[in-house]
Amino acid sequence: MNANVFKKNELLAAQVIKGLQSRNMSGYYAKDREEALKLALELIPEKSSVTMGGCTSSDEIGLTDALKTGDYNFIDRSKYEDRRAAMIDGYTADVFISSVNAMTDDGILINIDGNANRVSAIAQGPKKVVFIVGMNKVCADTDSAMKRARNVAAPSNAQRFGLSTPCASTGKCFDCKSPDTICCQFLITRYSRHKDRIHVILVNDELGF
Ligand code: SF4
Repeated sequence: MNANVFKKNELLAAQVIKGLQSRNMSGYYAKDREEALKLALELIPEKSSVTMGGCTSSDEIGLTDALKTGDYNFIDRSKYEDRRAAMIDGYTADVFISSVNAMTDDGILINIDGNANRVSAIAQGPKKVVFIVGMNKVCADTDSAMKRARNVAAPSNAQRFGLSTPCASTGKCFDCKSPDTICCQFLITRYSRHKDRIHVILVNDELGF
């Protein structure tokens, strides 16, 4: 990464962390993926039960593999025949791992979901939520974060899952009502009533979609 962009991200992360603190959430800065993995594992005690939605950012920093192979009770959705049973087990987990579709530079988190298992677990359920967020997902305000979620994150996710949505073929949101739409539920997390529940690790790298 260009040195000027790296420094700009570092300064921006400090601003985001202040914003998160003002919303009763915790923010952390990691200069690279390795440091992000270390920080995440410090937040997740061994023997914890841990679950996640599909989270490319977690995969990219090596967290998903570390949780699967380490001394954790990893609730692996792919091992369940009944997806609903996996979701319900996930709500009782100690820790939920996620990224965001976008966030603002003053600490508001934006997430869009099709089945709502991810946004519902973020809103309520697991005792702790740990977000892994590349600085590419930080936007200037709620409008631009929502635009990013619908025009960058959603099309990539629709393509990843092979869905028949307009954004999957054009890369742009058409506000569709397709049966395959992944834009069913929108979660804006602007404050946490529960101190020490929401933790956001900002990584000075490009992660996820
Ligand atoms: S509303 Fe439809 S077209 Fe727009 S991002 Fe969501 S799935 Fe894609």
